[in-house]
Amino acid sequence: MKTGLDAVAPAVASLRATFDDGLTRPLDWRREQLRAMQRLLIEGEPELLGAMQSDMGKPAVEARLTDLSIVNAEIDVMLRHLERWARPERAGVPLVQQPGHATIVHEPLGVALVIAPWNYPVHLLLLPMAAAICAGNCVVGKPSELTPKTSTAIANLARRYLDTRAVLVVEGGPEETQELLRHRFDTIFYTGNGKVGRIVMEAAAQHLTPVTLELGGKSPVLVAADADVDTAARRIAWGKYLNAGQTCVAPDYVLVHERLETALVDKLRDVVRSFYGSDPRQSPDYARIVNERHFDRLCGLLAATSGHVAVGGESTRSERYIAPTVLTGIHPDDPVMEDEIFGPILPILSVRGMVEAVRFVASRPKPLALYVFASARETVDQVLQGTTSGGVGVNCTVVQVAIPGLPFGGVGPSGMGAYHGRQGFETFSHRRAVFSKPTRPDPPVQYPPYSKVKEWVLKKLM
Ligand code: NAD
Repeated sequence: MKTGLDAVAPAVASLRATFDDGLTRPLDWRREQLRAMQRLLIEGEPELLGAMQSDMGKPAVEARLTDLSIVNAEIDVMLRHLERWARPERAGVPLVQQPGHATIVHEPLGVALVIAPWNYPVHLLLLPMAAAICAGNCVVGKPSELTPKTSTAIANLARRYLDTRAVLVVEGGPEETQELLRHRFDTIFYTGNGKVGRIVMEAAAQHLTPVTLELGGKSPVLVAADADVDTAARRIAWGKYLNAGQTCVAPDYVLVHERLETALVDKLRDVVRSFYGSDPRQSPDYARIVNERHFDRLCGLLAATSGHVAVGGESTRSERYIAPTVLTGIHPDDPVMEDEIFGPILPILSVRGMVEAVRFVASRPKPLALYVFASARETVDQVLQGTTSGGVGVNCTVVQVAIPGLPFGGVGPSGMGAYHGRQGFETFSHRRAVFSKPTRPDPPVQYPPYSKVKEWVLKKLM
């Protein structure tokens, strides 16, 4: 249910007043809110799973694992480490400034805005909101209008479980988001496509507000000649067809050594059948495309491809169903190779070796994720050294995002800034430099009138 444009200004103002009153600073308040968010996830699970099923046919097991449990596990990490993360850090003091005490103090930024997309509608809203709370901020969350039932379920649960003086969920579409963006926030955390990312950054520039942009891109998979094809096929197919390919870090396309191409495609066909049966449309474990617009876009890619459909290819518009699909014989200029696919279509391109694959990836925009399947360490190193990306999975796909110790974020057009684990706390904190000196001694060496001797002494002490 839309919040209403008129409600935005008073909501932001009330959060600012709360922040100024200092309610959110004590670690106890933060812990209590994080625990309340865990209760929201556990007790609200049936409501959230039902809403995600209704919005996009998200299978319950997938939704539990990739939407709810991941947030819960990250909150556990926050609760375990908050005390240590929030502790002032000592910094070294050069001789010339001694005696003195230098510390870095983590302060909350103030009022944060979190704008989320639809594909992991709980995870991508609540995890950054939890990081903002963990760092002591007030926060406004804006779920996606494309998953309306989930948006309303989260808004209702947030009102029930969280401290509404400091944590709010504003529902609505682009209009509400743009209304929010007119206001001054102390940080904006946006997840979604790069086009809206630019709108967010422009709006933030009006207030000189720092932004974190979690965007997408075409995440490649490189399969070297010495890869374990069985495992590669299973892990690529799982990462690709999870949530029907609507995952920001899903494998977008595969560059496979020409010697392995046939074997890989055959294995992918077997794996798809073993995961989803001979008719994936009947599988309770396979999701649907979020709306008709995205369904038509994906079918358009299938219709326009110059490649060959090696697996799947079927679709049913009334159900927004597109089968797990593998395309072969793909040319780099094929329409599926232009933008991020964000659906269950996997183009396979064959390469003569990893040198060609690395050159291909390095000549394209920096992706959010890169995957390499290889046995030899040197092959993996060669790929890592010749490319860049937000993150990397070696002999795996997607699961790198579930490691709280690893920062999650893009680079270049796939995003800026990161979160997860300590990095989330840092993203929503200001590292304030505090240097304090005793009033005595106060040697006159640094004060005018300057002299050659004073200069010599200062140089020696620096
Ligand atoms: P979306 O359409 O739900 O949009 C995201 C948010 O932007 C929504 O809250 C929406 O209200 C708002 N929005 C949309 N149009 C707007 C406008 N004109 N002005 C202001 N706000 C507007 O989601 P999406 O962009 O389709 O999400 C998919 C994209 O997000 C893919 O590119 C995917 O790779 C990327 N993504 C990235 C991550 C990541 O963590 N890096 C995660 C998920 C998705």
